[in-house]
Amino acid sequence: MAEELVADRLQSNLARLRLPRISQVLLDVVETAKVQGHSHLQVLDALMEEEVACKEQRRLDTALKVSGLPFIKTLDDFDFTFQPNLDRRQVNALFDLTFLARKENVVLLGPPGVGKTHLAVALAVKACQAGQTIFFTSMADLIDKLKADHSAGKTGRLRGHYKAAVVVVDEVGYTPITQDECNLFYRFVATRYERASTIITSNKAFVDWQEMFHDAVIVTAILDRLLHHCAVVNIRGHSYRLKGKVASDAARDASVSPQAPKEEPGPTDCATEEGDYATA
Ligand code: ADP
Ligand code: MG
Repeated sequence: MAEELVADRLQSNLARLRLPRISQVLLDVVETAKVQGHSHLQVLDALMEEEVACKEQRRLDTALKVSGLPFIKTLDDFDFTFQPNLDRRQVNALFDLTFLARKENVVLLGPPGVGKTHLAVALAVKACQAGQTIFFTSMADLIDKLKADHSAGKTGRLRGHYKAAVVVVDEVGYTPITQDECNLFYRFVATRYERASTIITSNKAFVDWQEMFHDAVIVTAILDRLLHHCAVVNIRGHSYRLKGKVASDAARDASVSPQAPKEEPGPTDCATEEGDYATA
């Protein structure tokens, strides 16, 4: 059969089999193979590698798009020198993702702007790259979803916030929740307990969770399940959002009064900027 006819039939079969990347690179790969003397097996391998890489990239793009992540940031984007008190080894160890296989949780605690969401997002992105399903939600949105399912008489168990291998619940403690909402959150935590990993960020120390969740019994039950298999990352430091401001404030203070006592800058909604958030 003439070369052109073979090429046409190949293209139509590639379209039927939905192998667009092979279709795209076929002629180039065959040409290169001729010049460089690649074997048939090497040609086949090169074509398959192209298609698999393309499909994987598409899966990743779609998964990241529908995950609800507020931004895409990685560990490489995180400046550890800005948070000298942060346990770098502990954070790096999380990024080997073994906590996922062990169905363990991660809780990131600290005042606003210290990088809790950044690190939670970076973990989710890494998990997604490793082929895991991810889901990101703020606590407020999660409560809305749980309430909607509850009032519709559904369990919601097949939805992303229950099913995903990694669920990030961001900003626990920013908005108060009612007793009923608290019960729904308990059910959510209990359902995922030892089944899948949940990553939580909070600006509230565990001692303040009781006030936030109203009920001592429920909060104990929530923390019991959440913390049983869990890495708690306590970030005690300044807000990255105030980075330039902190530096210029310090310079101004130094030039005005070298003896002036140092005051911690930072948000006012956290009583314990430098305190230990992890003390229960
Ligand atoms: P939090 O969730 O603790 O309030 P975020 O993670 O939202 O803080 O961080 C606020 C902004 O500052 C984000 O754009 C984040 O990427 C950035 N940021 C925070 N800490 C760091 C850091 N150590 N290095 C680089 N960027 C950071
Ligand atoms: Mg945040």
